[in-house]
Formats: sequence, C-alpha cells, structure tokens
Amino acid sequence: MTRLIDGRAIAAALRAAVAEQVARLGYRPGLAVVLVGEDPASAVYVRAKDRAAGAAGIAAQTRHLPADTSEADLLAVIAGLNADPAVDGILVQLPLPPHIRARAVIEAIDPAKDVDGFHPINVGRLHDGVAALVPCTPLGVMKLLAAADVSLRGARALVLGRSAIVGRPMAALLTAADATVTVAHSRTRDLAAECRRAEVVVAAIGRAEMVRGDWIAAGAAVIDVGINRLPDGRLVGDVAYAEAAEVAGAITPVPGGVGPMTIACLLENTVRAAMARRDP
Ligand code: NDP
Repeated sequence: MTRLIDGRAIAAALRAAVAEQVARLGYRPGLAVVLVGEDPASAVYVRAKDRAAGAAGIAAQTRHLPADTSEADLLAVIAGLNADPAVDGILVQLPLPPHIRARAVIEAIDPAKDVDGFHPINVGRLHDGVAALVPCTPLGVMKLLAAADVSLRGARALVLGRSAIVGRPMAALLTAADATVTVAHSRTRDLAAECRRAEVVVAAIGRAEMVRGDWIAAGAAVIDVGINRLPDGRLVGDVAYAEAAEVAGAITPVPGGVGPMTIACLLENTVRAAMARRDP
C-alpha cells in the first residue's frame, strides 16, 4: 500500500511550530527578501515567502529593485542588510538578471544571515557535517522522509540532479543520515538502472515525468522535487506520479509535496539564524 507523503500538512505543522517558537522569543526575527527585476515566477515566490513569514510572526521586508540595478548597487543593499541588527535572515531571489554575478552576491551575504544556505562557508560546513544553515529545499526533503518514517541508515539512496541548490546539498544530508548515496546527472549512463537499485529516490532534474514507474523498486520512497509546467498548464514533477505510486512504498505529489516544505524551512532557518545571532 503506497503512502502519500502530504507536504502541505507536514509544512503546515512546521509553520505552526515555528510560529509558536517565535511567540516565545520575545522579539520578532527579521527576514529581508531581495528581488531584482520583474520575473513573474520570482515575484510569486517572494510574495509567498513574505506572507508565510508574516503569518509566523517574522518581520519580513521585501526589497524590490529594478531589473537594471547594477551589481555594485545590489552589493551595497546587501551590505546594508548585513549591518542592520533587525535583519536576521537575507535571501536574494534567484535567478538574477544576467549582468549580475549571482556568485558575487551570494558571497557578499553575511554567512550568519544566509538563510538559503548557499554561501560557501555554509556549504563547506554542511559537507563537513558541522551545524550550518542548510538549503531549504533539501532540508524540507529530509523532514518529509522523517515524517514518513523512511529509514535512511544504510539505505541505498539515489539523488537525481547535482545542482548547488538541490542535488549536492541533498546528497550531503543523506550521507550525514547514513544513507549510501549515488548522485546521477545528465551524463549518467543508465539512469533507469541506477533508479531501480535505490530504496530512496530524490528526483531534482526539471524534466517533466521523466522517471517512469518501471524505474522504481517496489516499496521505494520517492521524493519528487521537480516542478514542470506542461503546455496544457498542468504542473507535474520529474516523476510519472500515477505509474510510480503503483509501486512506491511512499511518494510525494506535485504540487503539494516538496514545494510547501521549502518555504516552511526558510522560516525555520530564519528563526535559527536569529537565535544563533542574538543568543549565541
Ligand atoms: P538545475 O537545472 O540547476 O539542475 C538540474 C540537474 O538535473 C542537473 O544536475 C542536470 O545534470 C540534471 N539533469 C538534467 N536533465 C537530466 C537528464 N535528462 N538526465 C539526468 N539528469 C539530468 O535544476 P534545480 O536543481 O535548480 O531544480 C531541479 C528541479 O527542481 C526543477 O524542476 C526545479 O523547478 C525544481 N525545484 C523545486 C523546488 C521546490 O521548492 N519544490 C526548489 C528548487 C528547484 P547536469 O549537472 O549534468 O547538467
């Protein structure tokens, strides 16, 4: 019997726990979200983050800068937020316009305020197994696996995708949780065979329904990070859900799986950053 991993419900419980924690703090953690340009998807994400932060009692501010903002001006905004004691977390919404080097901007964020966990210092800490601010999407996946009681110790886990945002930190977290991890990518020779060996599959490739049901081992846990819009407007994941759900032991839907966890984990990271900075 396949279990549906309900990301909406698990994220709602996490958001409520964060709100309770904030209410006990005696101050409002501050989150600054920086948006450059008019990318409509980014604007939707930023609004959702702002709303969720406000609902959890976090003081959220959005800095919306024009698309022609220079890299120097953006770095000056980041420097101001780094220096602002009321700001505990800084998030720069990606992608940035092509004339701005994302790497330079990420490296300018104070690592103690880097609630996306993308700064090289936090990346290094994660890979060293030291406490760090961890990227929100893979952190959310770990919480989904825990909520679904998926046992990771010694389990064969396959991470599909090796991006800095999802695949690589995901592999580090699974390794830290004692899984035996394989990372697959566009040069992997036989993706289906790698998949069939895995007891835990995390798909983050951005290819609509590429992972088929007959790639999934009976009883495997399948976490679908992918968000792909089909020409007919439907949102689907990287996994062919209906086929995979017939064989998987547990599976996340798209939408309603990993997506809601990403924002909930951002709130959790903001509170963690606030507590570490204000009450070390
Ligand atoms: P990237 O495009 O940065 O990385 C995609 C990865 O998948 C790369 O490592 C790439 O390999 C690999 N890949 C691409 N095509 C194939 C293929 N045909 N076979 C095997 N591997 C392939 O994407 P992201 O990691 O940023 O995002 C992945 C997906 O997750 C997207 O759908 C995105 O929308 C979604 N996402 C969802 C979030 C959420 O909150 N739910 C948050 C972030 C992302 P190579 O390295 O060789 O190029």
